[in-house]
Amino acid sequence: MLTQHPDTPGEVGTFYNRHTDVYDRALGGNIHVGYWDDEADDSPMREATDRLTDLVAERLAPAEGQQLLDVGCGHGSTAARIIAHHAVQITGVSVSDYQVDLANNRPQPPDLPGRATFRLADAMELPFPDESFDGAYAIESLMHMKDKEAAIGHIARVLRPGGRLVIAEHHLEGELDLPDVARMADAYAFFKFSLSTDRYGKLLREAGLKVVDYTDITENVRRSYDSMVGAWRDAARSDLDGEAAREWETAADLGEWFFGAVPQLRYGFLTAVRP
Ligand code: SAH
Repeated sequence: MLTQHPDTPGEVGTFYNRHTDVYDRALGGNIHVGYWDDEADDSPMREATDRLTDLVAERLAPAEGQQLLDVGCGHGSTAARIIAHHAVQITGVSVSDYQVDLANNRPQPPDLPGRATFRLADAMELPFPDESFDGAYAIESLMHMKDKEAAIGHIARVLRPGGRLVIAEHHLEGELDLPDVARMADAYAFFKFSLSTDRYGKLLREAGLKVVDYTDITENVRRSYDSMVGAWRDAARSDLDGEAAREWETAADLGEWFFGAVPQLRYGFLTAVRP
């Protein structure tokens, strides 16, 4: 059995303290998948991952001067991209102090229209007053949070009426019926894919939000998986610690199988609004 994916905010923080650079290299400077328009689109990873950020920002459609919350901000690349194009203030939270340092030390040219700051905080206990943000986004972060109800409750609480939340994430849709049950259980324990859209919809509604859109972009992001598996193999080869190397190798083997074999694995944008 594999080492389980990190569970508590402390474990997730330690995971990203150690592995942010691996993901950054695999995904061209962002820590999320890329988006390609179609087969003919040969954009490099950096452009494709930036495009995913742009699509999230498009869904938020922030007005000048608004305050946005970046839930699970990584090393700040997403916020940096958004403030380069929108005159907004972004506050990012991550449970990795390594990421928060990188994010706060990222140069912000003085002529950017927006500003961003980052802090160490757990999104399941957001340290912000009620109704303090005009919008929020969570890119590949809620999947790490065990208590999604708490996280979504906090996000809903800190949003002002009219504020939007955009979630971008891998999730499993429908029943898994693969014959290889043990391997599937390993993959699930390792990757911790998130809730179905129905389950998310229910949590969002219970938190007082209204789901306004779900867009499935699985085929547009698929090309990211090869790069991730490749990066895990590189990490296995470059890692001097034998146990970590074996874990990366196992992740790569599982990922190679899982990403290709499981049609229930989806990636989508879910947009909700606080009425
Ligand atoms: N959204 C970023 C990073 C994705 S990686 C990007 O798109 O580039 C996952 C991020 O979720 C990491 O920054 C991790 O610290 C954050 N995260 C995971 N659990 C969290 C929690 N409980 N509270 C706050 N951030 C969390």
